[in-house]
Amino acid sequence: MGRIIAVANQKGGVGKTTTAVNLAASMAATRRKVLLIDLDPQGNATMGSGVDKYDVDNTAYELLIEQKPAKDVIIRETNGKYHLIAANSDTTAADIKLMEEFAREQRLAQALKSVVDDYDFIFIDCPPSLSMLTVNAMAAADSVLVPMQCEYFALEGLTALMDTIERLAEAVNPRLTIEGILRTMYDPRNRLANDVSEQLKTHFGEKVYRTVIPRNVRLAEAPSFGAPAMYYDKSSAGAKAYLALAGELIRRAEQQKKAEAAAEA
Ligand code: ADP
Ligand code: MG
Repeated sequence: MGRIIAVANQKGGVGKTTTAVNLAASMAATRRKVLLIDLDPQGNATMGSGVDKYDVDNTAYELLIEQKPAKDVIIRETNGKYHLIAANSDTTAADIKLMEEFAREQRLAQALKSVVDDYDFIFIDCPPSLSMLTVNAMAAADSVLVPMQCEYFALEGLTALMDTIERLAEAVNPRLTIEGILRTMYDPRNRLANDVSEQLKTHFGEKVYRTVIPRNVRLAEAPSFGAPAMYYDKSSAGAKAYLALAGELIRRAEQQKKAEAAAEA
């Protein structure tokens, strides 16, 4: 069964979409079967995957509101070797309609049941707010991956986010865990970034990924070419960092499996 990972942080501009797109592509490059779900009405993950958000027949709206089967909504041709459920401004309407409907928190979880076995990893790119779409992502996910920038007040924001995730988990998904915390747009020459990074490790320990995503212009340029960075400039520091992150996630998952097997034996 595929692992469902929500990429979330209520703050905008921290690298959620960049992480969702490039991690999905890196996982797919290791021959894992990957589905990326764009839940942000801005549709940046959709465009960044080489899919025109203005010219798609089906989006998360058709999945969540019209309740079309997932297999009919999934786009199989992207520039990242992964499958995609697209988003565009229709997704805003989905957010509003979900507020009025029955069993609304579990729509995405229900919708994914029929395809979860087809994938090794399902990544969900969340919008920068605590909307019904984010609640649906949290209800469907096994875990949350939190990208963050190491800047002033980052830790306060992160603590608030962790509280929110905990409360949400209690309400809609008790098995939800924190997948990991990812330092993005990192500049090692910046002293404040180093300080915040150290505090982060003190507070959250092993939850902080060893892999750090550097500030890299190729990661910012790639979306305008409609492709993940590894297909735009595979030797770039950004592309390499996301490949390393995929490796770290895979190793962690294997270690976890071993630990679980040992606990059962
Ligand atoms: P979010 O989805 O959290 O709003 P994005 O992934 O869209 O954040 O990133 C915000 C902006 O920063 C985008 O313009 C993106 O291209 C850029 N960006 C993201 N990560 C990096 C990075 N590691 N280096 C340079 N620019 C980045
Ligand atoms: Mg985004």
